[in-house]
Amino acid sequence: MPELPEVEVVRRGLQGPLAGLGLRRVERLRADLRYPLPDMDAALAGRRLAAVRRRAKYLLFDFGETWLAWHLGMTGQFHVLPAVAPAGPHEHVRLLFEGGVSLRYRDARRFGYAGILPARGWTEHPWFAGLGPEPLEPGFSPATLERAFASRRAPVKQALMDARVVVGVGNIYACEALFRARIHPARPACRIGRARIGRLHAAVVAVLSEAIEAGGSSISDFLRADGRPGYFAHAFRVYGRAGAPCVDCGRLIRRIVQAGRATFYCPHCQR
Ligand SMILES: [Zn+2]
Repeated sequence: MPELPEVEVVRRGLQGPLAGLGLRRVERLRADLRYPLPDMDAALAGRRLAAVRRRAKYLLFDFGETWLAWHLGMTGQFHVLPAVAPAGPHEHVRLLFEGGVSLRYRDARRFGYAGILPARGWTEHPWFAGLGPEPLEPGFSPATLERAFASRRAPVKQALMDARVVVGVGNIYACEALFRARIHPARPACRIGRARIGRLHAAVVAVLSEAIEAGGSSISDFLRADGRPGYFAHAFRVYGRAGAPCVDCGRLIRRIVQAGRATFYCPHCQR
């Protein structure tokens, strides 16, 4: 499943070729994905795409007064292709822009979904109401993290993955950030002191920023017919490395299961 860095890299890959283009029409090749697809042609044809934005793991296509929100689910991919290019496998939606440019949505497992929202008040939509701050924006700070953790007795890893605390920190990046901050993933969130919260905040920002940067160098892959967003696996220090030596101390990385998700950590470095 794509996490925040992958979605942000997709956003950057779409913003360049598409922002500023008028939308001619939208073709739906099926009526639903995870949920029924909205009538995008009725809502958006004739409008100009001002920008491609992102909130949490949603892409937000800003068409002025009306926005198109899109979640990639497990296997969703966007491709920018000439309008005349033939449909690829699992292609479900085509947005046809002026200048012979098209945006294709492909999704093998069809867990993706889309919705039309009014620009005014979009943050009140059920998909967005109640979300915590974006991790790479100033609304996420050591102070906001400290306030959120103060009332949470849950293990810190689960608190960090709670979208009400901060959005977009999924399983992989939660493991990586806790390793860098040297915090044991099972420690109750409310029992982490201010200095360690400061380290954890910095670690979250660092792991997500580095992942986006690593993905940014492969943006062209997202625009090719065969390109697919992947994880930026080369940078992982603990995730997926059970039984391998810790990059810092050489002892073996351990795997446990928390709330049904695999957690990887170093029992020596993380306390
Ligand atoms: Zn270690």
